Amino acid sequence: MDQNKIPQATAKRLPLYYRFLNNLQHQGKTRVSSKELSEAVKVDSATIRRDFSYFGALGKKGYGYNVEYLLGFFRKTLDQDETTEVALIGVGNLGTAFLHYNFTKNNNTKIVMAFDANPQRIGDEIGGVPIYHIDELEEKMNGNVRVGILTVPSKEAQGITTRLVEHGVEGILNFTPARITVPSHIRVHHIDLAVELQALVYFLKHYPLSKSE
Ligand code: ATP
Repeated sequence: MDQNKIPQATAKRLPLYYRFLNNLQHQGKTRVSSKELSEAVKVDSATIRRDFSYFGALGKKGYGYNVEYLLGFFRKTLDQDETTEVALIGVGNLGTAFLHYNFTKNNNTKIVMAFDANPQRIGDEIGGVPIYHIDELEEKMNGNVRVGILTVPSKEAQGITTRLVEHGVEGILNFTPARITVPSHIRVHHIDLAVELQALVYFLKHYPLSKSE
């Protein structure tokens, strides 16, 4: 199946589906209904049915979806067999939390190294991840690191991004408020936690949800 045919919105939901189905399999479940899935992942069942139809998983009435088949598909599509190496830059409060968080548990990504400018952090390991000085970035990144996580102060974001891109990083997860400029073939996902929180509070105030029965 041509993965380019999957709409981006669907592709974004795949890891969510994958994680839930993986848990189901561990519990010994062999099938799941779109309603069950919908309640667990909080995506409406019509969307789930449409998403699944893109990869030929057609649920049967009264049976639902075959967990094994779906997992097989997701594993292939999400390259679960191949781990993507990630470098984290900035081992402050947020960066430290990410290093402690075990991304590999249900996932195909692994933070393999971290960098900081603070000499007190250098040489430590957090969650099994070694911390190097930022001056060693070029030396330590061996061309296998494809993704960078930015948890540095805003003013450092652009300079570090440029260095990462020059050394083979293709994707940046930017947790700083800074807007960064990259060549057109580099993908940046921006997560500004303060903005997200503010947006949530705004929605609570102006678009209250009604309780369902
Ligand atoms: P956080 O924003 O994650 O809560 P913090 O408040 O502990 O972090 P910040 O000042 O935001 O600290 O810095 C985050 C981390 O980035 C710190 O550990 C700091 O030493 C590191 N840092 C600062 N400048 C650089 C740089 N040029 N390269 C790498 N790391 C840097």
